[in-house]
Formats: sequence, C-alpha cells, structure tokens
Amino acid sequence: MKQSLLFVPTLKDAPSDAEVKSHKLMTRAGLIKQVAAGIYSYLPLGYRVIKKIEKIIREELDKIGASELLLPALQPRDLWDESGRWDKYGPELMRLKDRKDRDFCLGPTHEEVITQVVRDYLNSYKKLPLALYQIQTKFRDEMRPRFGLMRGREFIMKDAYTFTETEADLDTWYQKFSDAYTAIFKRCGLKTRIVSSDVGQIGGDEADEFMVMSEVGEDLITYCTDCDYAANQDHSKLNDGDDCPVCGGTITTAQGIEVGNIFKLGTKYSESMNAKVINEDGQHIPVIMGCYGIGISRTLMASVEQHATDKGLLWPDEITPFHIHILPINVNNETHMTLANTLYTSLKEKGIEVLIDDRKERAGSKFKDSDLMGIPYRIVVGKDAKNGQVEFTNRYESETSLKTIEDILDFF
Ligand code: ATP
Ligand code: MG
Repeated sequence: MKQSLLFVPTLKDAPSDAEVKSHKLMTRAGLIKQVAAGIYSYLPLGYRVIKKIEKIIREELDKIGASELLLPALQPRDLWDESGRWDKYGPELMRLKDRKDRDFCLGPTHEEVITQVVRDYLNSYKKLPLALYQIQTKFRDEMRPRFGLMRGREFIMKDAYTFTETEADLDTWYQKFSDAYTAIFKRCGLKTRIVSSDVGQIGGDEADEFMVMSEVGEDLITYCTDCDYAANQDHSKLNDGDDCPVCGGTITTAQGIEVGNIFKLGTKYSESMNAKVINEDGQHIPVIMGCYGIGISRTLMASVEQHATDKGLLWPDEITPFHIHILPINVNNETHMTLANTLYTSLKEKGIEVLIDDRKERAGSKFKDSDLMGIPYRIVVGKDAKNGQVEFTNRYESETSLKTIEDILDFF
C-alpha cells in the first residue's frame, strides 16, 4: 500500500485527556479519533488491526465448531422484560424510543436476543449442542468511559453462547472456549492469566476472566506466586501476603485488564425466557447456557499497552497493520525510488503486507511517523541505494544492518 493514499493523521501531541500510553499513542499514530466521550472512529491503520484480531478469533472459534451469526444491535424492551433485565440493568443500558413510543435498547450484550433466536428451533435434545458467536458493536453508557478504547461507550465485542442438554456438556464447551481464548490471545501477542471471577451483572454459576497484567488495568488480581491460583479480588477477598487457599504459598496482588471472560450461565435465561427441549425421558427441561465474551477493541488497546514504548508502537507479528515499512529517503531520487519500488513489488508478491512511504515529506518526519506507527520491520532506502543496499531494521531486536535486496527476500 502507498502511504500517500493511506489516511494516517499522525499528531505531534497527544490529546490532553489521554492518561495512558496506549491512548496517547493510538491517537498520535492516527489509529483512532475520538467523536465523543467513549466513542471513537477507527481509522484505516487501527481498523486493519481490528480486522486481524477478528480474523484470529474467527479461525480459533471455527476450529472448535462454533458458527458465526449476526444479531441486531437494536433490541425491543419485551425481550428484556422477559429476562427481567429491563428493570435490573440500570443506567448503563442505552434506552431509546421508536416513533410509536415503544421502548428499545442498544444491546450491551445479547443473551436475550440469542435465546429468542434459538428457542423456537429447540424442541428435542437432538438439536443440541449449539455454539453460536457474533462480532458486533456493543453499547454501554459507562459511568467513567476512559483510556480510549479500553472502556468505551460503544465498543466491538465478540460474544458467543452455547446451549447444551447437560452440565457435563456445558463443562466440555466451557473448556473448549477457554482453550480457544488462550490460543487467540497468544496469537494477538498477549500474555494472559486466567482468573476466577465474580459473576456480577450477568448472573450464573461459574466464571473466569482473561487478564492482561498491566499497571493501567482496572481490576485487582490476587494470585499465588507458587501455583496457578488466581482470582479477581472482588471475588477472593485475599490480600498481599495472605496464604494461598490452594497450596499455602504466598498471595500477591497486581492490576489487570480484562480482555475476555467466560461464564457458565446455567438456566437463568432459558427458564425466564422459556427455552426448553424434550430430553430422552420425554421431559421438558430448560437448556443449559454458557456465554463467552472478548473485548476486541479493548484487546487492541491492551496489546498496545503491553508492547509500545514511549516513543511509539510495536506490533506483534500476527496483528501488525503491515509487516514491512519501506522508507525511500528522497522520492525525487530515481535510484532510491527504483530500488524502493523493486523491493515493494517483490515483497508484495510474496504475500507480505508492505507499506511504502512515497510521500513528499522530509526524511525526519517520515522517520518520526514510522517510529510512531511501529511496523516491526523497516527498510530505509537512501545513500547506499547506489550500491544496491538498504538499511534494514528489525524492531523486535532493535537491530539495524545494511542488506541487499536478495538478503531481504531471503529473510522473508
Ligand atoms: P468490565 O468489568 O471491564 O466492565 P464486563 O465484566 O462488564 O467488563 P462483559 O460484559 O463480560 O464485561 O463483556 C465482555 C468483554 O467485553 C470484557 O471482557 C471486555 O473485554 C469487553 N468490555 C466490556 N466493557 C467494555 C467497555 N466499556 N469498553 C470496551 N470493552 C469492554
Ligand atoms: Mg462492565
């Protein structure tokens, strides 16, 4: 892709309300732009990363046998009355009326809608299990939207729901989702810790959260330094220095960003909304549900927070908006441009995503933008072009060396 055609409005200064590194850099690097508190536009560079995260999620969920659908964001009150949540949800629910004065909300989550979708279809246990997911925009009128995409009022989520006949089948799906999540976050370049959590607003039996340990996280995690025990402090009531309830080791606390979670819902929604099947003994029983969320826009933010330096971003390999950034120092120099274009074409032919900075900007500002954007491999075409050489930087290793076109094509 030619940078002259890519809309990347980089900024010298971060917006004054940006408190954390990821928010400052995401804005300065031209990935997102705020529209109102907690509401953002995803600009081309940022949206490329979002699409990559979505692709990873789709691949891993398709692998476990979940199928994708798309539910409406606009939901009628009746469904929320059936579950009892219209009254319970509180001010986070974005409520509105249609022209006939009927109540609607913009979905903060989709338990009601998905239950409505499957309940007429579900007659026999033979239709089970079902595992469905969607990638969609969610709306929550958060009390304190902040840290850019970390806590938005409009954000992108992957939500999934399972319907099973037995608790044992739910356990199986719960484990499948847990394993898929571990794979997804790993591919997004994130180190996560699975933390047992309070079920909170959603209600149900058992839940786990996927946490990225980070100083800017809003959750406090208690975990054992000797074994795998970890719990959200809301749930565990343990403190620094306490004994681990599992192995007797020492408990430590640290902050974490919740990027995903999985819940065993049980029959909360299937009972209130009458989603039943006839089992082998001919009895009508409510189906057992599980729900599974990933904050896609928050995952993007957490990745930036985990990988960026104060100078700029650095993208993990699988979600980087481009793999290689080619910077010809002087676009009016024919030698520079011929070499840069040859590299650009040959790398693209190999299926590599390449961005070439063909803008008529000064070298200094090209370097600054490139540092900000954090594409992992950079090729500078400058004074050594006359000898067929370019300056190659692997930013994961912070290494720079002179290379020929052949060296570079070999490397990739
Ligand atoms: P939190 O405790 O952070 O409010 P939650 O428990 O309300 O999260 P869920 O309702 O389970 O979250 O939503 C699933 C996922 O969606 C979360 O794990 C998180 O990654 C993401 N998420 C939730 N609220 C927001 C938000 N306001 N902005 C961005 N992402 C969010
Ligand atoms: Mg919440």
